[in-house]
Amino acid sequence: MKLVDLQPGETGVITKILGHGAFRKRVMEMGFVRGREVTCMLNAPLMDPVKYALMDYEVSLRRHEASMIEIMPLQEWHEHETDAEKAEKKATAQHDENADHAVRHDKIINVALLGNPNCGKTSLFNIVSGSNEHVGNYAGVTVDAKSGHLNYKGYRINIVDLPGTYSLSAYSPEEQYVVRYLRDETPDVMVNVIVASNLERNLYMTTELIDMNRPMVIALNMYDELEKSGASLKYKELGAMLGVPIVPTVAATGRGVHQLLDTIVEVYEMKHPDTRHIHVKMSPEIEAGVNVLREDLKAESNVPLHFATRYLAIKLLENDPEAELLIRNTRDYNKIIADRDRVAAEIKQEINEDVQTAIAANKYGFIQGALAETLEGDLVHEEKTTKIIDAVVTNKLFGFPIFLAAMFIIFWCTFEVGSYPMEWIENLVSWVSQLVSRFMPAGPLKDLLLDGIIGGVGGVIVFLPNILILYFFISFMEDSGYMARVAFIMDKLMHKMGLHGKSFIPLVTGFGCNVPAIMSTRIIESSSSRLITILILPFMSCSARLPIYVLLAGAFFPHHGAIVFFGLYLLGIIVAILTAKLLRKFWFKDDETPFVMELPPYRVPTSKAVMRSMWSKAKQYLQKMGGLILVASIIIWALSYFPRYSYENVPQSYIDTAMAEMPESARTGKSDEEINEIILHTYQQEHSILGNIGKFCEPVVRPMELGWQSCVSLLAGMAAKEVVVSTMGVLYVGDDDADALSERLKTPSPLTGKTPFTIPSAIAFLVFVLLYFPCIATLTATIRESGNWRYGLFSLCYNTLLAWILAVLAFNIANIFC
Ligand code: GDP
Ligand code: MG
Repeated sequence: MKLVDLQPGETGVITKILGHGAFRKRVMEMGFVRGREVTCMLNAPLMDPVKYALMDYEVSLRRHEASMIEIMPLQEWHEHETDAEKAEKKATAQHDENADHAVRHDKIINVALLGNPNCGKTSLFNIVSGSNEHVGNYAGVTVDAKSGHLNYKGYRINIVDLPGTYSLSAYSPEEQYVVRYLRDETPDVMVNVIVASNLERNLYMTTELIDMNRPMVIALNMYDELEKSGASLKYKELGAMLGVPIVPTVAATGRGVHQLLDTIVEVYEMKHPDTRHIHVKMSPEIEAGVNVLREDLKAESNVPLHFATRYLAIKLLENDPEAELLIRNTRDYNKIIADRDRVAAEIKQEINEDVQTAIAANKYGFIQGALAETLEGDLVHEEKTTKIIDAVVTNKLFGFPIFLAAMFIIFWCTFEVGSYPMEWIENLVSWVSQLVSRFMPAGPLKDLLLDGIIGGVGGVIVFLPNILILYFFISFMEDSGYMARVAFIMDKLMHKMGLHGKSFIPLVTGFGCNVPAIMSTRIIESSSSRLITILILPFMSCSARLPIYVLLAGAFFPHHGAIVFFGLYLLGIIVAILTAKLLRKFWFKDDETPFVMELPPYRVPTSKAVMRSMWSKAKQYLQKMGGLILVASIIIWALSYFPRYSYENVPQSYIDTAMAEMPESARTGKSDEEINEIILHTYQQEHSILGNIGKFCEPVVRPMELGWQSCVSLLAGMAAKEVVVSTMGVLYVGDDDADALSERLKTPSPLTGKTPFTIPSAIAFLVFVLLYFPCIATLTATIRESGNWRYGLFSLCYNTLLAWILAVLAFNIANIFC
């Protein structure tokens, strides 16, 4: 909590002074030191300054000054003390209890991870905080701050993973985000993650961070790549030169993380020998200009709160809008800006180059100088392999076929390899259901367990291996860097539909789950491109739809599963492209922003990272089974179970029709009793609450010759697409409870002799499932991210209508051939 949040009459204890230089010194001199109690006396809203009582006298602070002082409410402070601490205190009878306590409370270190995209920040974050955030070998994976923490040697280290940026100029949304984060949150230690194999570009941002003059550590990540390349870097010397300790790390395996944490603590305690304030020296002309602005800023007591004057002065010279915003409310704003323009013009005249370019060139010069002294050998070794692979996979001729072949192999493995473990789980489920059916007394409870829970959840859980295999490949493609290439070869296609390659990244994420994919569209600067991407995302077949494909493909196309998958995913992509084109034409005007897609070098994904990602997916899936799917199955079961009927309730006319329709083959070998049972069962289902709902909406699916059960399943799938399968599991109960669901779908109904699905209707069902209504979570994300419910409504209507049209079309085409 900040001092500024303290309400009149409340008292807090100071835990930390943020801010810089003169300000810090002044408030400390006034008595604002950690451990002191401070009471708010008067705090008129929106009015500066605020009056505080501190050590029996009153001081006034401006609101923004008060926002730079961290406090803890007095009560909380006391609650914080454990009994042991109280006893200890009593024993030693310390004079200044609070001061001691403050030291302990102060053992919270706020750390921010900063660095270029794709340098391994999130990998490091995951290792340090034990989280499972998404990592991938391409830019733009992390779009907002993720926080985690760990306890280390008596410190609580709060760590924040920020989006990757190449610099701190506030041009792209990510850069703006990071700069504002540094402004508002003032982390205690900044950890600048740099890629050992690409030092020059990575160190550019480092020079900007050095200008900020804040406690900082450099994590020299991907140190393994540097070692492999044969080059060597005297990182200790480099660290001494930069005045920032450097720790080599390999975030992918966790090597060096302990040293990094130790160094963070040392830097925080101001004990590290390498920590030193340096200036990244630029040419005398620029330095002179920077000094003029620094003097201006120093004279203005409002300014230096958030950033060091040198940093601000350089940013102002670079015409950075965020820096101008920071000083907007100062008294001397106009003078500072006028000085800036004058100085910039002078520099331009003197060196015949505009200031921005000159500053960048100077910084690169500094970096080159530092590297010339510390780096031996060159780093290009790795890139040779990358170049060779790229020559093939991004080739004009082969690029696409290779991508399609890769997709085909993935689907083949998902289907074929997945079928083995799937069978094991299927056997397990059927064994459990046999046990239940044999040993439990008949009654509603048994029906609930057998048809509701085992039928529903058991029907979906068998697809866990397939989903894991799919995720294994997605994660492999992302981590190796191939996905970035796919975005690259897709770029041209994306341009044709008025989007750019950057949109492809969320689309690929969409193959996993649409919801995080919609969030990751934040990396797209152009708002119309972003909206289009959000709207076409649901056509990317998410992994929740996979069980339906495996189920129906397994039942009706056991030998061509991979082709069916491939066709469906491709259909989704084609529909997405055409939709994007339509939207561009009729709804959003063209506005393309130029964009550079970085192609990172290929990396062999570590088994640790891949396992981590798969484990988190498995956990998510099982949690969903135990939660949403279980609840949905029980509800569906109850709706199909009630109201109860007995044979006497069944109208004679129904029995007559049923008997007339019943084929001879179904009747043979069955006693009257059994036939009555079958009739009752069907009547029961059809006239249950669910049956009535199903009958009501059946006309919609009749053109595809689907029954009311499939219609209900589709409706239930609005909650989540897995529910389609669990609902089918509940509704299609066969003669034998132990039969796998895919068998039951092919078993002719004992009453009509027809199977629930035929090949054409299965195809239609698959197409419908691929395209129709995105699940509730996706819809919510669409509305939230687009900021307008109309887009959600559009998505709902357009997708469902399109799904219906294409499904009917598919049914009729398939009917011709089958
Ligand atoms: P971020 O964009 O900075 O968050 O980077 P990520 O954490 O997403 O990692 C980018 C890629 O680099 C992933 O494919 C990681 O598996 C890989 N990676 C991260 N750290 C290392 C490392 O130390 N060595 C190697 N070889 N690869 C790494
Ligand atoms: Mg990241």
